Amino acid sequence: MRNLFKLQSQDIAIDLGTANTLVYLRDQGIVLNEPSVVALETSDGVTKVRAVGADAKMMMGKTPANIKVIRPLKDGVIADLDVAEQMIKHFIRKVHDRKAGLLRRFDIAVCIPSGSTNVQKRAIRDAASNAGGSRIYFIEEPMAAAIGAGIAVTEPVGSMVVDIGGGTTEVAILSLQGLAYSTSGRMGGDKIDDAIASHIRRKHNLAIGESTAERIKHQMASAVSPIDRGQTMHIKGRDLVRGMPRKIIVTETEIADAIAEPVGQITESVRNALENSAPELAADIVDQGIILTGGGALLGRIDDHISDETGLAVTIAEDPLTCVANGAGRAFEDKDYNGVLIPA
Ligand code: ADP
Ligand code: MG
Repeated sequence: MRNLFKLQSQDIAIDLGTANTLVYLRDQGIVLNEPSVVALETSDGVTKVRAVGADAKMMMGKTPANIKVIRPLKDGVIADLDVAEQMIKHFIRKVHDRKAGLLRRFDIAVCIPSGSTNVQKRAIRDAASNAGGSRIYFIEEPMAAAIGAGIAVTEPVGSMVVDIGGGTTEVAILSLQGLAYSTSGRMGGDKIDDAIASHIRRKHNLAIGESTAERIKHQMASAVSPIDRGQTMHIKGRDLVRGMPRKIIVTETEIADAIAEPVGQITESVRNALENSAPELAADIVDQGIILTGGGALLGRIDDHISDETGLAVTIAEDPLTCVANGAGRAFEDKDYNGVLIPA
């Protein structure tokens, strides 16, 4: 009974990622973590949402003609405003449903890809507000990632965060709770998946789907080529010549070679940032090293690769997939960090 009267805050922070959306409920932590995927079904000329999140991702590549699976943020910016809005509302409702009855006024902070335009930001703000948010804030993604990775962002010490997501990689140098440098490029996990699929198409004449390419990446892709052929893996797809299903074996070495280009783009972006940093900040980064966040930080030996290419120490943040959401949540909870919330 007592709980019912406790004035519990329902403020939420959302990491609206190109691959995954996470929702953090103030004072509780992450309460939702689902793929940023929506399945739309059309019947009798009317299109409506059939599934959102994990349920929709399971349908990817396996749908009948009248169902389309969409990733509304695929290329790092919001590709489909309307679907993105429905997805945001769905997730917010899902989180608050569990709290029915206790619901009071709540604020929402949204971390968005830094390539978003004003039109897209407005759409997100409207979606958050239509979903019931009183005050809406934005948080710059690298800032949230840094806070979530445990970096002392309020200190006058430069640090570098590289957040490797599905559609984008953000590289930022932070100091005194601000971004001294930041850039967002359309590279990351998706490009690596594409490189794997196209290699298998060319070399083995086999068509594989996005999900299979991603699975190969998780299981055996490495940013550094192994000395021998490395591990091997059986994969299935459709033979491009005969059209029949077929099974092949791929090696770790060939996959490492296949992804060298998209991995190189990530490193290139890190090197650019280092070349453009103020001398004092550069000196700090030499001491502190580079911190990796985002799911791409889990790519095999990406830390060794970036370290080899820059000569700097590279650390993978603890639980890199949740840094942005945790950092955004802390921005609400800890008044030292309130300053990073930008009124939308
Ligand atoms: P976003 O912020 O864009 O939603 P995430 O930070 O959630 O992206 O990271 C998702 C990306 O990380 C996907 O491309 C996914 O395949 C990749 N990823 C997740 N786990 C691993 C892993 N173990 N190895 C390599 N890549 C991974
Ligand atoms: Mg992200």
